[in-house]
Amino acid sequence: GKYTKEDILKKVKEDDVEFIRLQFTDIFGDLKNVAITSSQIEKALDNKIMFDGSSIEGFARIEESDMYLYPDYDTYETFPWRPQQGKVARLICDVYKPDGTPFEGDPRYVLKRALAEAKEMGYTMNVGPECEFFLFQTDENGMPTTNTYERASYFDLGPLDFGENARRDMVLTLEQMGFEIEASHHEVAPAQHEIDFKYGEALRTADNIETFKLVVKTIAKRHGLCATFMPKPKYGVCGSGMHMNMSLQKDGKNIFADENDKLGLSQEAYWFIAGIMEHMKEMTAITNPLVNSYKRLVPGYEAPIYIAWSAKNRSPLIRIPSARGAGTRVELRCPDPTANPYLAMAVCLKAGLDGIKRQLPVPPSVDTNIFNLTAEEKKTRHIHSLPANLREATLAMSESDFMKEAVGSHIFERYTSAKMDEWNEYTRQVTDWEISNYLYKV
Ligand code: ADP
Ligand code: MG
Ligand code: MG
Repeated sequence: GKYTKEDILKKVKEDDVEFIRLQFTDIFGDLKNVAITSSQIEKALDNKIMFDGSSIEGFARIEESDMYLYPDYDTYETFPWRPQQGKVARLICDVYKPDGTPFEGDPRYVLKRALAEAKEMGYTMNVGPECEFFLFQTDENGMPTTNTYERASYFDLGPLDFGENARRDMVLTLEQMGFEIEASHHEVAPAQHEIDFKYGEALRTADNIETFKLVVKTIAKRHGLCATFMPKPKYGVCGSGMHMNMSLQKDGKNIFADENDKLGLSQEAYWFIAGIMEHMKEMTAITNPLVNSYKRLVPGYEAPIYIAWSAKNRSPLIRIPSARGAGTRVELRCPDPTANPYLAMAVCLKAGLDGIKRQLPVPPSVDTNIFNLTAEEKKTRHIHSLPANLREATLAMSESDFMKEAVGSHIFERYTSAKMDEWNEYTRQVTDWEISNYLYKV
């Protein structure tokens, strides 16, 4: 690792840290904290800080609720937006049981387990996310709205772009926290933005996505705005996605590249793509976890609907960007920023590895616009759709042995049952759409 215990103790002193947040995420990807004062740091670094796991949804039952936090020293970072005297630092933690074994309900452990399997095959995984979000106005009580005064669009510059100052502040804050920002720009819809950071090893990137969301929300608030990662906050405009760019490395070399292939892709890359396609329907409840996620996956807004791949076209589920050499990657375009990044990466990696192990043949690429194909043509070309809603996605996951193994039975049971409850609660609502379409007419 980067830091030893002594390094952290020294940093905490040097940085004048007063509070330390020990962070982890629940199965839905929500960031949780146990806050300690710096007087407790040694105890924390010795893995002795405990919390009650039963207070966290989907985590543990009362009888088995004692959990321990094992900080990952390399994740030490201070929060630049907090006071510079008496600073606040964070450490991202793994969750362990009292018997000293990893807790199966910890999503970070699920990713680590998948990465260990890859390691056995000689691979490390790199991931680069492209995370989109909206910046909306807050009302006079500081409550979030879906209103915006701006009318800017893709790559527009200020003064049309009201969020520009906030976005610049976000980029600077992320850079202070060690992020390498590759791009930041206005997105297609009014008030929609994207900030891309450089790809890195999967576990680090999953940690970074959690930090990224915290920074974006915190800095937006400081600018009197509300940042939301909700996949489709507004009918009739583009939703927010989180494209996941993935590649595998062996001995420091990107193994998805092969100059001798006609598309410049290796056999492993084709198998990896085939594995993702094979398991995509079962994984969608993880990559697109909300009722609202499926309102983004509709025609007309650059979001994928069909399970297909292309190296030419920008719109299919799996796209192979034109970069080759170290930049050779598979881009999965369905995930949205509400996915638990640890679980999303774990299931994508497991699916890709399954493709490699079984040497699954990749279906032919679809380089034409799928939306122009007739139902008959899609059928003869075996082009399937993604699940249409959270119910279909959750059922597909529930019936999948692959998914049970990939996330472990603890998370599998709790996740699928929580998602089915979420769907059932949603379908029982009487919505504004129903009132405006039915109330006066019937
Ligand atoms: P797009 O063409 O879809 O707009 P971007 O250039 O915005 O793509 O984003 C590319 C993302 O892919 C960045 O996060 C970048 O760091 C990442 N990336 C580049 N090379 C690799 C690689 N070999 N493996 C994984 N991710 C990569
Ligand atoms: Mg983009
Ligand atoms: Mg992209």
